[in-house]
Amino acid sequence: MDKERIKQLKLQGFLNQKNKDYFSVRVVTNSGNVNGNKMNKLVNIANEYGRGYMGFTSRMCIEIPWIHKDDVDKVKEELIKDGIRTGGTGKKLRPIVACKGTVCQHGNIDTQKIGDEIDREFYGRQFTPHKFKLGIAGCPNNCIKAQLNDLGIMGQRLSKYNEEKCVGCGLCVKACKVNAITKVGNKVVVNREECTNCGKCIDACKLGAMELEKQGAAIFIGGRFGKKYRIGDRLDGIYDVKDINKIVGIVMDYFEQHGECGERFAVMMERIGVDKVKCDIMEKIQNL
Ligand code: SF4
Ligand code: SF4
Ligand code: SF4
Repeated sequence: MDKERIKQLKLQGFLNQKNKDYFSVRVVTNSGNVNGNKMNKLVNIANEYGRGYMGFTSRMCIEIPWIHKDDVDKVKEELIKDGIRTGGTGKKLRPIVACKGTVCQHGNIDTQKIGDEIDREFYGRQFTPHKFKLGIAGCPNNCIKAQLNDLGIMGQRLSKYNEEKCVGCGLCVKACKVNAITKVGNKVVVNREECTNCGKCIDACKLGAMELEKQGAAIFIGGRFGKKYRIGDRLDGIYDVKDINKIVGIVMDYFEQHGECGERFAVMMERIGVDKVKCDIMEKIQNL
């Protein structure tokens, strides 16, 4: 098979293996979810055209290896017929990674719904200067490591202490796993520098002395992990979930307009200046 065809197939999610006669087909899921019918179809493909197994990737895709080069077109046709997407490569938004915050007891935001909405609006945009990774964590436990993505989203619940209602029972102190609450006499003090906005103290307090001030998402930009790594910078504030798609659009537009071809978002930030990029993006968000 010639190089150009191999390159085109890669863009469509068919990755040439070490053994050049075979391809791995990469199936893009909805933030890690696949319905039963589609999963059955994938099992059939793996049994019929592969070697009867499939693997899960770090970006929640499913790869079926050992598709012979002569079967690639047939497999492609079958997957398209069943509405199964392949891809996950190239200079564009990569498959979205979202944790189970929707059903997880710690989730502060509906990660799967947010992932679906971003996917619908942005997946497949072809014109980012380099790949663009996006991760959504439901809470600061951060199972998907939001800050290691070009754009990270993390569910937040900001508490507000109402001293008058507090009887100093200490339940919130126990609930806070980062020791951000200290008991002082029959009251408590919250260290906002240490607080991760998990919201657990709100649930723990039976008297309503820890109120919900704001629920939403923290946004991180410029993270990456691989040959080189960088922890993403947090934009100030907690953002309404309803604004997330607009924020994703602002960040991706900025990347398209200011990134040089082949440059990751993190590299662009360092070149332009971290504070300037953050300021520019914050300004656009504030004008939403
Ligand atoms: S990041 Fe939080 S909400 Fe998401 S799966 Fe982990 S613990 Fe649950
Ligand atoms: S929101 Fe979480 S981290 Fe912050 S004080 Fe409450 S329990 Fe501690
Ligand atoms: S749980 Fe509520 S009442 Fe008890 S110490 Fe904390 S804020 Fe005060």
